[in-house]
Amino acid sequence: MSINLELPKKLDTTIDQAHQAAAEIFRPISRKYDLREHDYPVELDTLASLYDGLAEAGQAGAGADGGRSQEKKGKPKPEGTVVNGGNMQSVINTMETSWGDVGLMLTIPYQGLGNAAIAAVADDEQLKRFGKVWAAMAITEPSFGSDSAAVSTTATLDGDEYVLNGEKIFVTAGSRATHIVVWASVDKSLGRAAIKSFVVPREHPGVEVARLEHKLGIRVSDTAVIRFENCRIPKENLLGSPEVDTKKGFGGVMQTFDNTRPMVAGMAVGVARASLEELRRVLEEAGVEIDYDKPAADQHAAAAEFIRMESDFEAAYLHTMRAAWMADNKQPNSLEASMSKAKAGRTGTDITNKTVELTGTLGYSERLLVEKWARDSKILDIFEGTQQIQQLIIARRVLNKSSADLK
Ligand SMILES: Cc1cc2nc3c(=O)[nH]c(=O)nc-3n(C[C@H](O)[C@H](O)[C@H](O)COP(=O)(O)OP(=O)(O)OC[C@H]3O[C@@H](n4cnc5c(N)ncnc54)[C@H](O)[C@@H]3O)c2cc1C
Repeated sequence: MSINLELPKKLDTTIDQAHQAAAEIFRPISRKYDLREHDYPVELDTLASLYDGLAEAGQAGAGADGGRSQEKKGKPKPEGTVVNGGNMQSVINTMETSWGDVGLMLTIPYQGLGNAAIAAVADDEQLKRFGKVWAAMAITEPSFGSDSAAVSTTATLDGDEYVLNGEKIFVTAGSRATHIVVWASVDKSLGRAAIKSFVVPREHPGVEVARLEHKLGIRVSDTAVIRFENCRIPKENLLGSPEVDTKKGFGGVMQTFDNTRPMVAGMAVGVARASLEELRRVLEEAGVEIDYDKPAADQHAAAAEFIRMESDFEAAYLHTMRAAWMADNKQPNSLEASMSKAKAGRTGTDITNKTVELTGTLGYSERLLVEKWARDSKILDIFEGTQQIQQLIIARRVLNKSSADLK
């Protein structure tokens, strides 16, 4: 099959709307909320209603359900047909809004990482119930971060309900989202296969937002510690199959990363593009010519560096689009999702930091947003699996090694 790198026309509206929101709503308030950590950006309420309307019309980005309900509205496609669906839309939307401000992007109601998780594993009935919620994602605990098989939060079946107990830390949008997708073990003696994800309303008996974190970047995004104490939820809130299949292992919950990692890669691509555009403007104002026809040795060092970063940017962008496209076309994409996250996460931090360097004192000051983007981009190479973890996953898949072989 040949590769067509042009974006489908039907995504034009998504791009235009998201870009308009990024340029006209996000950019003007970007510095204000960076300086007022934890204040809720009320300007986003307007955006939430806009997204709701667009989602109904099938024009929005992810929407709360990652675009799955939109896919279902269309006629069934004959086998072999190429689809550009909810994941592609979601990633494009993410890139555009993160170009505006990645912290604000993470604060857009109904577009949480938990929503992508729901879209990945919810059945039709759950999609109906949870398709319109705003869902955060709670995996990390005080005792682990990267090793997500070490989940110690428990979900014990009691009649028709699961009872959740445990503590989750660093939950993005944890104090603002309406729901939280929580990873918990239904039976610790059965190891990683017993880890399941549960949709829990945030305002619910037994759920307590204990505190918010102060952070290096994405300061407008609330990062919460959440405690679950005898929190009872209907057993139907378990996402996917309740069966513990020790042969299948960790597959069920890990599937959520196939959707969320390209999203985070998209965030990194968005901030990187913002930085590159600003760098080009500053260099051109300073009289530095960027000439694509000249070899690196024959032009200004800053121009040569710009071109190098731009090619890295293109690679990150294409990796991300491929991973999202594969998810839309139901192709297994765990390897490509990790590749997109590794490449885009690394490229995002490289480009934003280099931009601070190349723009000198101006870049380091608060007169531009480039120092903020350098702070904001770091998290994109950490959450949903760090750079090192993505490389580990890629190595395991390429070399056909198990997690026991390669740690
Ligand atoms: C702002 C922010 C928002 C977050 N949002 C969320 C969220 O919404 N939901 C959520 O569940 N979590 C969230 N997290 C947590 C995030 O996912 C974890 O921080 C991340 O998974 C890394 O875990 P850790 O910090 O415990 O680092 P550790 O796992 O302790 O790792 C420390 C270092 O060791 C490296 N390392 C670890 N294991 C290996 C290995 N086997 N081989 C090589 N190197 C390795 C890591 O790459 C890292 O560099 C957030 C974190 C932050 C800072």
